[in-house]
Amino acid sequence: MINSQSVDEIIIAEWIVPVIPRNVVLEDHALVVKNGVIHDLLQKEEALQKYSGQITDLKNHLLIPGLINTHTHAPMSLLKGYADDLPLMEWLNNHIWPAEGKHICDEFISDGADIAFAEMIKSGTTCINDMYFFPELVAKRAINCGMRATVGLIVIDFPSAYANDADNYIAKGLDLHKELQDCALVKTAFAPHAPYTVSAKPLEKIVLLADDLDLKIHMHLHETSDEVKQFVKQHGQRPISKMKELGVFSSRLNAVHMTQLNNEEIDLVADHKVNVIHCPESNLKLASGFAPAAELISAGVNLSLGTDGSASNNDLDLLGEAKTAALIAKGRSLNAETVPAATALEMATINGARTLGIDKITGSLEIGKQADVVAINMSSINKKPVYNPVSQLIYCSNHDITTVWINGRKLLDNRQLTTLDETELSDKAMYWQKRISSDF
Ligand SMILES: [Zn+2]
Repeated sequence: MINSQSVDEIIIAEWIVPVIPRNVVLEDHALVVKNGVIHDLLQKEEALQKYSGQITDLKNHLLIPGLINTHTHAPMSLLKGYADDLPLMEWLNNHIWPAEGKHICDEFISDGADIAFAEMIKSGTTCINDMYFFPELVAKRAINCGMRATVGLIVIDFPSAYANDADNYIAKGLDLHKELQDCALVKTAFAPHAPYTVSAKPLEKIVLLADDLDLKIHMHLHETSDEVKQFVKQHGQRPISKMKELGVFSSRLNAVHMTQLNNEEIDLVADHKVNVIHCPESNLKLASGFAPAAELISAGVNLSLGTDGSASNNDLDLLGEAKTAALIAKGRSLNAETVPAATALEMATINGARTLGIDKITGSLEIGKQADVVAINMSSINKKPVYNPVSQLIYCSNHDITTVWINGRKLLDNRQLTTLDETELSDKAMYWQKRISSDF
């Protein structure tokens, strides 16, 4: 008998959708994991002959790459449902910013981040692109539970509990970047909040630093028509035009929302290789408008998905976001072929990895990449029959996610979180509910 090669885990599933190559559904295959990395992807029988290790046999399951949520404000999970059904500026100025001003502290950030991570892991997210105050605490909580993350080095002009002015935000961000530079799980990006909250001088400084440190720039841009109108009134030009002038508009830019784009701006986005982060449910809830997803895809733009914070969604379910993105794109373009299920899944996986510049290590189930993997039970009645697992995954609701691996480590095992205590987090959510309710 030939000696089999020792590996950590052999995951067998009825269907495996690697995302790369495109439109491939492997049946009765196995994903072999060694040292946190996808070591092999091959026929089940062949895998069992060739390798020995822990066997996880997932009948009626689909394996996909871990989902990448490219726009979150994780600690805002504590403000979920705090102020709903309001337009963006009223929501921010009269509700969210005052509540944050009153309640933000280390405990708020850490508890909020943990609650968001629990919800995201349970819904198949293995990587996030976050933007919030005290990013060092979000980074610490991500490392604690094993979540892959890019934390935004937040910058705004005005003071907060975190920093005094733009220079202070940047200095704190640089310290965190230095601290995390050898961390494999958590990376950093600059995160100037938006053109209406960050002035030209700090933006110019960020452009130089991002070039120097090879970092992405994560920024809200053209979220609402009112924002664009106000900016034109103040500066005599549209925000994108100003960002172009300041050097922000480049392949480093991960522009969030982009609901207000004219044809010329769509071409500019494509020419400058700006990544667009599409948050359709937050845009719908705040009545901000629709990002022209079909037009951006046709222009060759890399489009990934984000839920935005819990306070404007109100869930962190990226598969739900993929469904909404596909449906809106069809509805807007009056073309049912726009954003097919496979494209929606790419937006939630490999496109997100490209946005974050980590597509060499995650975003698809390819040999050599980190084992960031999600297993979905396809046997529930709402998904039967299964002609096409990707269609069922995107268009049917009530996802039954049973197991989630990040770097080959099981963070969700048979629907149970392994690194976070759900009961304890529910108690913490109740504690914050009581504390924040005293505002009303
Ligand atoms: Zn946002």
